[in-house]
Amino acid sequence: MKIYEGKAKKMILLDEGKLIMEFKDDATAFNGEKKAKFKGKGRLNAQISTILFKVLEENGIKTHFIGIAGDNRLIVEKLKIYPLEVVVRNVVAGSLKKRLPLDEGTNLPEPIVELYYKNDDLGDPMINHYHAKILGISESELKEIENIALKINKILKEYFAQKGIILVDFKLEFGKNERGEIILGDEISPDTCRLWDAKTKQSLDKDVFRFDKGDLISAYEELYKRLTA
Ligand code: ADP
Ligand code: UDP
Repeated sequence: MKIYEGKAKKMILLDEGKLIMEFKDDATAFNGEKKAKFKGKGRLNAQISTILFKVLEENGIKTHFIGIAGDNRLIVEKLKIYPLEVVVRNVVAGSLKKRLPLDEGTNLPEPIVELYYKNDDLGDPMINHYHAKILGISESELKEIENIALKINKILKEYFAQKGIILVDFKLEFGKNERGEIILGDEISPDTCRLWDAKTKQSLDKDVFRFDKGDLISAYEELYKRLTA
């Protein structure tokens, strides 16, 4: 059985172009420098990702989600993943503060899309369309990826707002399936999004771990509770 083990998930190859995506309890931050394990995180991330993939599918976005295969396991369509992390931002936080002279929490007049090259050795550098072309990704693919990312942002921003949550920023990964379609892959979870309580601005995401803001599992459970209420 072919298995890829990453920092947050295990990917187990099934036949017929499918994968099991198993969410681990491990958490890493700052390029793997900070590490810990949180019992139950894998299950929560699998369930939250499932909810969000379903919301997106209902709104016409093609995702790799096929089904659930246990508490912390999803079945997904195997994709040829682009070596890109596509970040969308609505509110100033995280690394954006190093690029623009704006305070944390400032609403952006329109969403920002950023591309990062998924490469741990280089520390996932931010890149532009010229760099991406050298990596073999065409202009039309980039445009389609950015368009889908913005559509996803619109859908999720509205969805979270209904739950009293601000979608500050998040990271997506895309890939191509056998038919050559561009499909949303990987996960959408509190590990890969910044989500703030609309009233208190408290983090319901991995910043709780990054910046020791409290108990990670309680924050993820609170998020899950709101999404399922
Ligand atoms: P990392 O590899 O950065 O440590 P993870 O632990 O999250 O990250 O591992 C999941 C891996 O699976 C990532 O490399 C991701 O790009 C890849 N992946 C996600 N969805 C799919 C898919 N549908 N098909 C193939 N690979 C995928
Ligand atoms: N993100 C991610 N994986 C990464 C880098 C970023 O999921 O390898 C997410 C992160 O959780 C946040 C958004 O992308 O929701 C923007 O992250 P940022 O560039 O601000 O970097 P950070 O400060 O989180 O390192």
